[in-house]
Amino acid sequence: MSATQAGSRIVCPVDFDRAGRQAGYARAPLSRNNSAWGTVEIPIVMVNNGSGPTVLFTGGIHGDEYEGPIAISRLARELRPEEVQGRVIMMPAVNVPAVIADTRLSPADGRDMNRCFPGDPGGTFSQMLAHFLDSVILPLADISVDLHTAGHSFDSALSTNMHHVDDDEIRRKTLAAAAAFGAPYNVVFAGVDEDSTFTSCVERRGIISLGTELGGWGRVNMEGVRIARRGLDNILKHMGVIAGEPETVQKDGAPGTAHKMVRDPECYVFSPREGLFEPTHYAGEAVRAGEVAGYLHFVEDVDSDPVVLTYRKDGIVWFGAGPGRISRGDAVAIVMEEYRDDWSGPAAR
Ligand SMILES: [Zn+2]
Repeated sequence: MSATQAGSRIVCPVDFDRAGRQAGYARAPLSRNNSAWGTVEIPIVMVNNGSGPTVLFTGGIHGDEYEGPIAISRLARELRPEEVQGRVIMMPAVNVPAVIADTRLSPADGRDMNRCFPGDPGGTFSQMLAHFLDSVILPLADISVDLHTAGHSFDSALSTNMHHVDDDEIRRKTLAAAAAFGAPYNVVFAGVDEDSTFTSCVERRGIISLGTELGGWGRVNMEGVRIARRGLDNILKHMGVIAGEPETVQKDGAPGTAHKMVRDPECYVFSPREGLFEPTHYAGEAVRAGEVAGYLHFVEDVDSDPVVLTYRKDGIVWFGAGPGRISRGDAVAIVMEEYRDDWSGPAAR
């Protein structure tokens, strides 16, 4: 069995070179007031057989996003070595303290793990975990699919997502993998604080990187679970790891995935004030520039009219804020436009 690797303080019991199925726990040290030698057990399952690419599926980097962990843990129980040509590494609940606490930030250190990459073996719990993924797991992978949803604060149109990678060949391969995953939408985007995300970390290693947004508003989206579970199989088929062709027909009969993009800051609707937000559209609905995106209410005042927020772009709502209290500067909606491959950088137009 392998001990600590690549300077990581996390001990992984999986021998990645051995054929067959291995299921166990990577053990991360977490000394606490009530447990001097405490550890956190992070579930990891590997199925390895014959020769072929290595596919990495991760979920639970944020603890309040459920569809990915459900789909990956189902696959991890179902997948048999004799079905596989290559290697599948499945981590359904990466940030397990956050998963158990049902929170975006890890209760172990109060951090958003997806802002901790490439991590630090001597840093906080989330930084140590990020370093383990980057330095021990990622070097094994040919493709990474990191399953997320929009958590508590947003709902999302069911989608995969990717950066507009500069390398034409990797971009083409990533678009093909997204189309194979078969979510209703694939969104090519430029995010906020993206250098510290897992996606950027994967890309720096030259590995195909896909994310997902498959629900949100703090509940399990049943169609999101179905798309996630089917998408995992589709990626394995696309990569030649299991037999068969990807199935991408959508619930509404659409034949496959619609490619979209979010590259213009005007795709975002931000709140100018703190208040109680009433949205006017669900994620996935078509909207037009100038149309009302929602109302900001001041229910504690007797005579303050609501502030009307409007979209600045035609498109489809990718993210929509949940009804609830929001702060000044919070995004309340993100609109996705038709994808064009002539992107020349964030917000270029
Ligand atoms: Zn997330």
